[in-house]
Amino acid sequence: MSYEYTFNIYKKMNFYSLNGKAPEVGLEEAVVRGIAPDKGLYFPESITPLPQSFFDNIENLSNNEIAFTAIRQFVDGVIPDTALKDIIADVLSFDFPVVEVEENIGTLELFHGPTMAFKDVGARFMARCLGYFSAQKETQEPVTVLVATSGDTGGAVARGFLNVEGVDVVILYPTGKVSDIQEKQLTTLGANITALEVDGVFDDCQAMVKTAFLDEEITSQRKLTSANSINIARWLPQLFYFLFAYKQAKSKGKELVFSVPSGNFGNICAGMVAHKLGMPVKHFVASVNSNDIVPEYLKTGEYKPKPSVATISNAMDVGDPSNFIRIQKLFNNDLEALSQKLSSYSYSDEETKAAMQKIYAETGYIADPHGAVGYLGLKHYLKDHPDAYGIFLETAHPVKFLPVVNPVIDAEIEIPEQIKAVMDKEKHAIPIKNYDEFKSFLLS
Ligand SMILES: *Cc1c(COP(=O)(O)O)cnc(C)c1O
Repeated sequence: MSYEYTFNIYKKMNFYSLNGKAPEVGLEEAVVRGIAPDKGLYFPESITPLPQSFFDNIENLSNNEIAFTAIRQFVDGVIPDTALKDIIADVLSFDFPVVEVEENIGTLELFHGPTMAFKDVGARFMARCLGYFSAQKETQEPVTVLVATSGDTGGAVARGFLNVEGVDVVILYPTGKVSDIQEKQLTTLGANITALEVDGVFDDCQAMVKTAFLDEEITSQRKLTSANSINIARWLPQLFYFLFAYKQAKSKGKELVFSVPSGNFGNICAGMVAHKLGMPVKHFVASVNSNDIVPEYLKTGEYKPKPSVATISNAMDVGDPSNFIRIQKLFNNDLEALSQKLSSYSYSDEETKAAMQKIYAETGYIADPHGAVGYLGLKHYLKDHPDAYGIFLETAHPVKFLPVVNPVIDAEIEIPEQIKAVMDKEKHAIPIKNYDEFKSFLLS
């Protein structure tokens, strides 16, 4: 059945900087810039709830129809409907199943995409938006996407942007610090993707990227952008996941609780946008590892960023979650109101490993360390709210974190096809020792 909701209410959406010292911009400028000139994150000027009939009917809609309806108000007038439908069909070409793990608990598996990371959807959506903008121009000014990765993000971004016209991708990763599978995913693509193997740790990679953005010798010659969840085209499409989960869990007839393993808080913030669009949600849980800035904030009212600490759920090792400011904005900076909808709990590596073992022993399900943190937060909340149905997000396939999973779970993990396909390919990476080498590379 085809479902077409006609909106005539939308005009071109503007995005404003949450620092309030930069002009409002349209979608294209917000996506190409990534971050506003005053270093603020862009935020949509309005979020208009979808009609009740959309949620009443959601089980009769395809994922593509749901996504189109949900994101349209943010891109309308810039990307035409036909192009948006093509982008969505291309981006969402895999499944997003809610798998029941135990009674009243399901896991939303977000790892069925090409790199088996939940960032596939955001990265692919952003890439196709940039590709669309570039195709509209008579003279192309190529954009260079710079990404520093601790392993998981880089693969999704690289793959998402592969062969997109007008876009070059440069990925920096710390040598010896990413798993073999992750390294293969970063270094075997070729075409418009270049991997730089940095002699250092993740923070060095990130520092080089930040310096490059401020280096006028480079920015006068190359148009640079970033592809992390600060970028609205990577952040907003994540709201689809929550709608897909709602569609599948609605028939349970219970109120829904989402537990989201969180690092930069982009994913959970997108879930809260889905709620703002009218999707019924009882509560959100932000489950974090030892990087506990947000749970501390909810407890004390003081937001105190700290240097990140390394954990086994390393895609969430963030000491100053960039998207938290967007969450605060969604609640008009009202901590009391926010606390009604959001709880946040922190777990150590030992607790995370124990959870992975427990889930496997009791249910046979193999959770990756990030999903296991999500499971723990969900269990905590459901203890006091047993009538709700809980969903924790599985943000990566366990095979992406084998060095952690193997010693903890005594099971043979089957290598999925997507991963096997890259394991046989040859690694190509350019070694980089310091910023000067990185800079010469960018200027060459
Ligand atoms: C990026 C990532 C997260 C954290 O998502 P945020 O949107 O940054 O909160 C969690 N798990 C995995 C596997 C990730 O790659």
